[in-house]
Order: sequence, then structure tokens, then C-alpha cells
Amino acid sequence: MVANKKTGLQEFELIRWIQRQVGSSSHLTLGIGDDCSIQPQHAGQDLLTSTDLFIEGIHFKREWSNWYDLGRKAAAVNISDIAAMGGTPQSLYLGIGRPKDISDGEMEEFLSGFLAETGKYGAVLAGGDTCGSPGGLMISVTVQGTVTAGEALCRQGASYGDAIYVSGSLGDSALALQLLQCGQQPDSGLVERFHTPTPQVDLGQKLSKRQLATAMLDVSDGLLADLGHILTASGVGAELKMADLPLSQPFQKALQDDPGLIDLALAGGEDYELVFTSPLKDLAAQIDPPHTVTQIGVVSQEPGLRIHHPDGELYRCQRGGFDHFA
Ligand code: ADP
Ligand code: MG
Repeated sequence: MVANKKTGLQEFELIRWIQRQVGSSSHLTLGIGDDCSIQPQHAGQDLLTSTDLFIEGIHFKREWSNWYDLGRKAAAVNISDIAAMGGTPQSLYLGIGRPKDISDGEMEEFLSGFLAETGKYGAVLAGGDTCGSPGGLMISVTVQGTVTAGEALCRQGASYGDAIYVSGSLGDSALALQLLQCGQQPDSGLVERFHTPTPQVDLGQKLSKRQLATAMLDVSDGLLADLGHILTASGVGAELKMADLPLSQPFQKALQDDPGLIDLALAGGEDYELVFTSPLKDLAAQIDPPHTVTQIGVVSQEPGLRIHHPDGELYRCQRGGFDHFA
């Protein structure tokens, strides 16, 4: 990696640099360098495809992170969409709109982070597009993955009586963002959740392969908004137990000083945990470490979502989920 301030790499030199970093891959017949990549398909598998934008000033600020972590995050949040269907990520496509004030070294750091994250899951950068941007850095990532035919876990499929589970813990990333926005430096555990989220690929695959879940998605816009998509698509409602929300140690500590922070766990977003429904009531015990899943409620017949305090009172969250046009 060249830690320089130069911005002289031309489009094709940058593409060639990318191409040199990317090895060959067993699932691609042809990768970077031609008009299209070629990926043979196996019988009995479904191809999953998802695309996301990652825009400076909206999704990230360069002063909060470093380019390597930004690259990791751009890959991770896309891979999380494949995890959310229970699939295996395979090929990523990276569109870069590069402003003039990002040096070659910074661009290469971003790409190194992107490739490191991609490689962790056995996926490969299979193509993309590169051009200049008159504004900030614009990143568009498309990811493809596969799942055994018919086993993808969708938003639709939750039934009355199913238990509702969430993996890991909620609210850490949103709390880190809130502290960064206030000019404070969050606890390292929290800030890691924000800068380098972990897509739950392994857990997602286990749930789909063993057919343990009826509906699933990843929590990107906040638990309430994302679980709301499952409920709407499935035509059901939910009763959640406030006391059962999984919260990390640093989050609980912050909550002692400011109980209102609970809304970050409910609606903060960027957790990249999996929320899913299952007819199994003892699923948490069937999931092996390092994964944890916690039952947070049950699916009900009455549409909508209610959050119950231990004393029976209903809680009203003051935050909406993240909406780009709000
Ligand atoms: P085209 O004119 O067909 O769009 P390009 O010159 O843009 O071709 O790209 C040449 C090759 O390099 C293609 O295989 C493309 O997928 C790949 N490529 C371009 N930009 C990127 C990028 N940012 N990341 C990965 N591959 C890229
Ligand atoms: Mg092109």
C-alpha cells in the first residue's frame, strides 16, 4: 500500500491496481477485466443479489473513521444483506465516484479494507465502475450470493405464535454515532460496532440450512422499523418485552445515566444483527457460541407492534427508524 498524498492514478491505473489485489476465485470463470464477470451456476441453488449506496456526508464522514475501516464497512453492510437471507456471499461489484481530494494512498487504503472484509467471507471483488465525483466519495456496492434453492429466509413467513429473536446486542452502533456527533470519543467496543460492523453470515446460514426460522432480515434501519417489515409482509403483529432486549455492557452503563437511550436500541439502526421469527421456543439454547440469540417477544394476531414494560405498561418509542427522505 502506498501511503502517499498523490492523486495522479488514472482511472485505468486504479482499475489495474484493484485487479492486481484480487486473486482468482473458484466460483468465477472470469473476474475483473472484461465487460462482465462470468459465474457458473450450480443446479439446485438460488442466486441472491443486493445493491447499496454508501455516500459521504450521509453514510459516513471521513473525519470519524479511517479509509481502511470505511472500506471494510462498505463491504460488510452489503454482505449483511446476503446473511439476512441465509446465503453465502460470493461476488461483489464496486462502483466508485472519486472526488479529487482523495489521494491515491487513501483510495488504496479504502480498497484494502474492502478486499479484506470481502475475503473474510470467501467472497471476491468481481467488477465495478470507476469515475470522478464533483462532490464527496460515492460508493455503490452490489453483492451476489447463493443459497440452496427454496431455503432463502424472506421477510414474509412469520406466523402467529412464533417467537421473535435477535442476534447479538442492539443500540451500540447508534450510541457510538450519537457520541461522535456530540464530539465525544465513544468506548472502543461501541465505536467498533459503528465503524466495522460484523455481518452475521455464519448464523444466517445455520438458520436457513437447518430451517429454524420462518422470516428474517438484518437490522440496518433500527429494530422497530426492520421488524415492522417482517410484520407487514407476514400480515401479523408483535408483542415485545422491553426487559428482554439484549444490551451490551457499555450500552447498559450509558443507560443508567440516561434511560432515554433505550430508544437507540429500539430504533437507532446500523446494528447489522439478524432479527427473525421461529416456531421454536428454545432456539437460544440451540445456537452455539460465539453467536448469541435472545428471544425479545412473540408474534401476535393484532397488527402493529407493542413494547411491554415489566409492570404491564406499554412503552412508546420516541424515535422513528431511519428514513433517508424524512
Ligand atoms: P466498461 O467500459 O465495460 O465499463 P471499465 O473500463 O469501466 O469497463 O472496467 C474494466 C474492468 O474493470 C471491468 O471488468 C470492470 O468490472 C472492472 N472495474 C472497474 N472499476 C472497478 C472497481 N472500482 N472495482 C472493481 N472492478 C472494477
Ligand atoms: Mg465502466
